[in-house]
Formats: sequence, C-alpha cells, structure tokens
Amino acid sequence: MTLGATHKQKFVVVAGTRPEAVKLAPIILALRERGCIAHVLASGQHRELFHEALAGFGLVADEDLGIMLPVQSPADVVGALVPALTRRFDILLPDAIIVQGDTATAFAGAQAGFYARIPVIHVEAGLRSGQSEPFPEEMHRKAIAQMSALHFAPTQSARSALIAEAIDPASIHVTGNTGIDALHLVEARLLLDHGLAARIAHRFSAVDLRRPLVLATIHRRENHGERLDGILAALAILARHAEIVLPVHPHPAISGPAQAVLAGRAGVHLLPPLDHPAFVWLLQRAALVLTDSGGVQEEAPALGVPALVLRDVTERREGIATGNARLVGTDPAAIVAAVLDLLADSRAIGRMGEASLPYGAGDAATRIVDILAGRAAVPRGHPALSVEV
Ligand code: UDP
Repeated sequence: MTLGATHKQKFVVVAGTRPEAVKLAPIILALRERGCIAHVLASGQHRELFHEALAGFGLVADEDLGIMLPVQSPADVVGALVPALTRRFDILLPDAIIVQGDTATAFAGAQAGFYARIPVIHVEAGLRSGQSEPFPEEMHRKAIAQMSALHFAPTQSARSALIAEAIDPASIHVTGNTGIDALHLVEARLLLDHGLAARIAHRFSAVDLRRPLVLATIHRRENHGERLDGILAALAILARHAEIVLPVHPHPAISGPAQAVLAGRAGVHLLPPLDHPAFVWLLQRAALVLTDSGGVQEEAPALGVPALVLRDVTERREGIATGNARLVGTDPAAIVAAVLDLLADSRAIGRMGEASLPYGAGDAATRIVDILAGRAAVPRGHPALSVEV
C-alpha cells in the first residue's frame, strides 16, 4: 500500500522529562517546518520541568496523560503508561512513534508502539555504559533498541554498540546529538534577545562572578543516600574557594539533604530547577561543572567548559576520550582535590575546556528529519521490525 502524495506524515512524539523536551524540541520544530505532523504526547512523568523546558523553544504539548504521582517508581510510570499510550495510538493512528533517550517514558512509548505494530524511532540510540548502572536507564536503552525500527545514534561508538547487539546496520544513522542543536538555539536566543540575557543576569546578581563559578547538578537515582552526602560535603568545602551554584532537583531524596547541608552557607546558591536559557547562561560562565547529568556532560564540551562527572561509570565516553570530562565519583576528598587541582592550574582547565564536538555540530535534527521526511510514509499495520521507515 502506498499513501497518496497528500498524506502528511504523522509522528507522535512521546516524552515526559526535561532532557526529552530539550532534545526533542529541535526535531519537533524541524518536522513541522517540513510540513509533517508532530503530535507531542506528554506522559506527565515530570510535569513542570517538562512543560517549562518545551516552552523555552516556543512549544506546547498537544496533550498530557498526567500520570505523575508525588513519589513514583519507574514501575509506576511504565505500568500506567503502556495501556494509556496504546489507547491514544489507537485514536491518533500515527505513521511512527518517536522516543528519545532512556527514560521510563521512552521505554513505555517504545513498548506501546511495538505492541501496536507502529514503527518506533529511537533518538539518541546506542549509548552504553556496559554496566548495570545507570539504573534503570542502561536497560531501558537496550530494550528500546530491540523494539525500534530506526535508530539515530549520536556518535560512531553508539552505532558500534548497536551493531554489537545485532541491530541491523542499515537501520542506524549517525547524526550527532540533538541536545547540541538545542544548545545552539538557546545560545542564539541569548545573543539576540538582550532583554532575556539582562533578565537572567539580574536573577543571578547575588552570584559573585569575580570568583570562579562551579555549576553543579545532581539527580541520578544511584547518587541518592550516602553518595549524595559525599557530594554535598564536597560542595560545602568548595564554597570557600568558588561560588557554588546548585539548581536543586525537586526529588525529595535530593532536595531534603541539599537544603539540610547547604542552605544559608556563604558562597552557595541553592536555586530551584532552572529554565534552560538560564542554565545555559550559567554554563557559559562556569569555570567547571560538577554533574551526574547525561545532557550536561554533552553540553559542557560544546561550550568549552570542563566537566567533572559525579559517577563511577558513564555512557557518554566520548567526552572522557577527548579529555573534556573526567569521572570523579562521589568521594568528598576526591571531588575537592579534583576541583582544587583544576582551579589552581589554568593550563589544565584550558586543556580540559578546549571546546570540542564529541557529540556533534548541532545539525542532528536536520539530518534526522531529512531522513524521516525523505522516505515514503509508512503504512500502518506492518510488523514494526520489518517495516522500512
Ligand atoms: N538543565 C536545565 N535546568 C537545570 C538543570 C539542567 O535546563 O536546572 C538542562 C541541561 O542544560 C540539559 C538537561 O537539563 O539540557 C539535562 O537534564 P537532566 O540532567 O535532568 O537529565 P539527563 O541529561 O541526566 O538525562
């Protein structure tokens, strides 16, 4: 069956967290520019953070399934989403489902698409730590790969990881990471919109930019508990040497201890989660970042900011290979030593901060949409894994 020339390709974009909003926004914009339908189906996994991040790109979700609970596990999210998404797919009749990354929402979106025999397109495919952590994201990524018809890998090594898992090489395209596209869009806004830049600068007037700025983010599940205590103890010591800016993740396992250890401490700025332009503004001015985030590990090298990674393993190995990022774990003495060494040695900070493009040049969304829009629309009802998208 071939669809008529007037058929508009319809993509349902399933997403629910801040990084998904940031990294899918460039694709949604590019699809719509090409005249395709990009229906944004929010899961509600994270409500405010998701919608705020999307709004930064002038986008609004078409609907929100609102599955968020005050305290929720990945099992709660996946268990609620698979049937809810299936019902929506039955009505929306998409040509393909787009999911991004490794969240419970992406995993559920891929499952629902797979069961409905709708081709699943995986953006940011093939990242692997090769360990059981990050948990449960490493397993999500592997499982999504098995259920997807088309894989957009940000790097060659991501492509190799997929091929090692017997994914058909013809279904994998190396495009760079759309997070870099999003970063460039925000950089351009900050440059062109003087009002926006001035408003952001005003919000951070309490941060003393004459001191080195250490921007920190912590949110990973495996860093809850004792490991978080180690990170917070390090930040408390580092505040004597640098301005510490920590946008605090709203999860009570992070926000409770962060407030208890750091609130009111001189040199520490505990902030609510920041909108993406404000976060990028700070990143542009940071001496270094201390982070367990995946996306921030990708953004920092593109801006020439050294990243010290608060983890023992990472699936973003390219930044380590280019020397832009280093794993420092969560032991307070090791974190403090790594930060002070860097701050004391401007040549070392310069070397780590040499801007490089391990995650692409910022044209990933265009490449992806060229591939999606350049192909014939996919008839529904075919087994997802045998369909050529
Ligand atoms: N980010 C943001 N505000 C913040 C912290 C991070 O907009 O207060 C952005 C950051 O620039 C990156 C993304 O959120 O684009 C990373 O999301 P997160 O660290 O939550 O998830 P991960 O990338 O680890 O999956």
